[in-house]
Amino acid sequence: MALINENFSNLKENYLFIDIAKKIKAYRQANPDKELIRMGIGDVTRPLAPAVVEAMKKGADEMGHRETFRGYEDSGRGYGFLRNAVSGYYKTMGADIDPDEILISDGAKSDCGNIVDIFGSGNTVLITDPAYPVYVDSNVMSGKEIIYASSNEGNGFAAIPDENVKSDIIYLCSPNNPTGSVYTKEQLKKWVDYAISQKAIIIFDSAYEAFIRDKDLPRSIFTIEGARKCAIEISSLSKTAGFTGTRCGYTVIPKELEAYKSNGEAVNVFKIWCRRQGSKFNGVSYPVQCAAAAVFTPEGQAQTHADIDYYMENAAIMTETCDELGIKYTGGKNSPYIWLKCPNNMESWEFFDYLLNEIQVVGTPGEGFGPNGKGWFRLTAFGTRENTIEAMNRLKKLLK
Ligand code: PLP
Repeated sequence: MALINENFSNLKENYLFIDIAKKIKAYRQANPDKELIRMGIGDVTRPLAPAVVEAMKKGADEMGHRETFRGYEDSGRGYGFLRNAVSGYYKTMGADIDPDEILISDGAKSDCGNIVDIFGSGNTVLITDPAYPVYVDSNVMSGKEIIYASSNEGNGFAAIPDENVKSDIIYLCSPNNPTGSVYTKEQLKKWVDYAISQKAIIIFDSAYEAFIRDKDLPRSIFTIEGARKCAIEISSLSKTAGFTGTRCGYTVIPKELEAYKSNGEAVNVFKIWCRRQGSKFNGVSYPVQCAAAAVFTPEGQAQTHADIDYYMENAAIMTETCDELGIKYTGGKNSPYIWLKCPNNMESWEFFDYLLNEIQVVGTPGEGFGPNGKGWFRLTAFGTRENTIEAMNRLKKLLK
C-alpha cells in the first residue's frame, strides 16, 4: 500500500489565485466588452535583452556541432564562466564571493523549496508574515514547525528579530515580495547577530536585488559583517533580466557555513547541499547558462538595467498616484511591488471586487500572503507603461 506524505494534508489550499481567476472569468463572461488591466501578477512583460538572446543562440549553435557539443555538465553546479561572472557581480555589490561558493540553479523557487531537504525535522523555522508562499509550503510539506515574525504597518512591513524567540532556520526576503519593503544595513545586521546568537541559518532571498537603486541599501546579505557564518543567499535572473520563462538563478553558500547534528557535531552545509544536488539535480542547460552569463557583461548590464528602469518608472507612476490619493503604501521605491492599505477601511477582497467591478483593474488581495496582509493589497510594476498609466488614471477618477 502506497503511503502518502501526510504533511501535504496540512498545506492550506491556496484559494487566492484560484478565486482571483474565478472572479475574473465570471466578470469577463458578464462584461465581454470591458477591458481588464492585470496588475496582480508577478511576471515580467519586457522581452529578453538582445545581448542575452545572442548568447543563447550562440550556445544553441555550439550544441549542434560535434566539436562544441556538451552533454551533462561535470559538477551540475554551473559552468565556471557563469560562476565567475556571478562572483564578479557580487564584487560590484561589495561582497567577496568565491566562484566555488556559487551554485547555478534553474531559478530561486526550486532552491527556496529544495533547501529544506538538508535541514532536520526538529528545526523551528521562522518566516515573516506576510511572505512569498513557497517558504511556508515547502516547510509544511517536510513537517517542520513554523513560527512567524510579524511584518506590519508599525515596522514598515520589515519584521525585526525578537531575541526572546528561539528559531533555527530563518527566511528573509529583501526587497520583499509582497510588501516591497527593503531592509537597511542596520536591520539586516540585527538579523545576522540574532542568527549567530541562535546558531541559526538565514535563507536570504534576493530575487529583487536589482531593483534597489538607493546606494545605501544592501543588495546582498553578504555585505553584512558576520553573514558568512549564518547565511545562504538564493537569487534569480527572473526579474533581474526577464528569465521567468528561461529559468536561471544562483545560490551562494559560504564554504565555512555550518549546521549541526543533534549530538552537536558541526557539519559543512555546502558539502551537504552539493550531496543533495548531486543526487537530485543535473544542472541548467548550456544555452541558458550562456544567456545568463551575458546578463553580467557590460552590454547585458546596460540592457537589463534599461528594462528595470522601465518597470521602476511604472512604479513611480503608481506611488505618485497613491501619494496624490493619500493611500498608505510600502514599496515602489526600490522594489517592483506596491503594497497598499485598502482605502476607507475596506477588506482586501472587498477592495479587489471594487476595483474589478468599477474600473476593471485586477490586483492581489494581501491576505493571500499571510494573516498580516488583511486589509492590504499588492500591485506590481511589471505591466506595460500604457496599462500602468491607464490603470492609475482610472484609480484616480474612482477614488478622488
Ligand atoms: N523569490 C521570490 C521572492 C519571488 O517573488 C519569486 C518569483 O516570483 C521567486 C523567488 C522565484 O523566482 P524564480 O523564477 O527564479 O523561480
